[in-house]
Amino acid sequence: MAPGHDRPGRPAPDIPRRVGVNVRVDRDVCTGHGMCFMTAPEVFEDDEDGYGRARNDGVVDPGHEDEARGGAASCPERAVVFS
Ligand code: SF4
Repeated sequence: MAPGHDRPGRPAPDIPRRVGVNVRVDRDVCTGHGMCFMTAPEVFEDDEDGYGRARNDGVVDPGHEDEARGGAASCPERAVVFS
C-alpha cells in the first residue's frame, strides 16, 4: 500500500442502508485518489484541485444509493461521510 494511504486508526465508513442519503467528502482527509468518482461518477466528481466532492450538494438522487455506498467503500482514506 502506498505511504500515507493506510489509516489503521480509522474505522470503515458507517454506510446507511436506506434511501434519502446525503454524502460529503471530508476535505481534511481526502488525498485525491479519485476512487470515489471513478467508482461512482453519478454521485462524486473531482474538484478543480483533483480532490473528490459530492455532486448535487451532497444529495444522492433516489436510486443511486448503492453507487454512493460503493464510492464510499472504495475510498482508501475513509473520507466519505454520510448523513
Ligand atoms: S476516493 Fe477518497 S481520497 Fe480519493 S478522491 Fe475520493 S474521497 Fe478523496
